[in-house]
Amino acid sequence: MSTIFSQIITGDLPCFKVYEDDRVLAFLDIHPIQPGHTLIIPKQESENGLVADPQDMGHMMQVAQKIGNALINIVGCDGVNFLMNNGAAAGQKIFHTHLHVIPRFTEDGVWDEPIAGEYESGEVENLAAAIAKELA
Ligand code: 5GP
Repeated sequence: MSTIFSQIITGDLPCFKVYEDDRVLAFLDIHPIQPGHTLIIPKQESENGLVADPQDMGHMMQVAQKIGNALINIVGCDGVNFLMNNGAAAGQKIFHTHLHVIPRFTEDGVWDEPIAGEYESGEVENLAAAIAKELA
């Protein structure tokens, strides 16, 4: 199903484009977590990164590396998050694959609250084994 990002690709909706090639388009997020927050989207429609063309996924990361370094030079950030939300439970709101490239500044307070948990006894070993078996 098409989303507003398809309309941005066709030019039917405007965007502030920063990069484009045969596979991807990159433009500024309309509600930035920090100024310069960029979205990279594959031109080929897919719902999210779990089902996107693996070549698109790889290329998005290559472009993210370039954009991340450009952001360090242009907005003077100290670090950069590459972030992809896959599925509504993971925070995805636009169901066209997209990679967030987010400038970060030392002690900028973004995502400050501690969210890391702890495993129960034996849980981590069982989980690692189950995932490894699924991947084998
Ligand atoms: P998600 O939560 O799906 O990972 O992120 C979707 C992102 O798309 C959000 O950060 C939101 O600000 C951005 N966004 C939503 N609509 C538009 C739009 O029309 N133009 C642009 N440039 N960004 C948008």
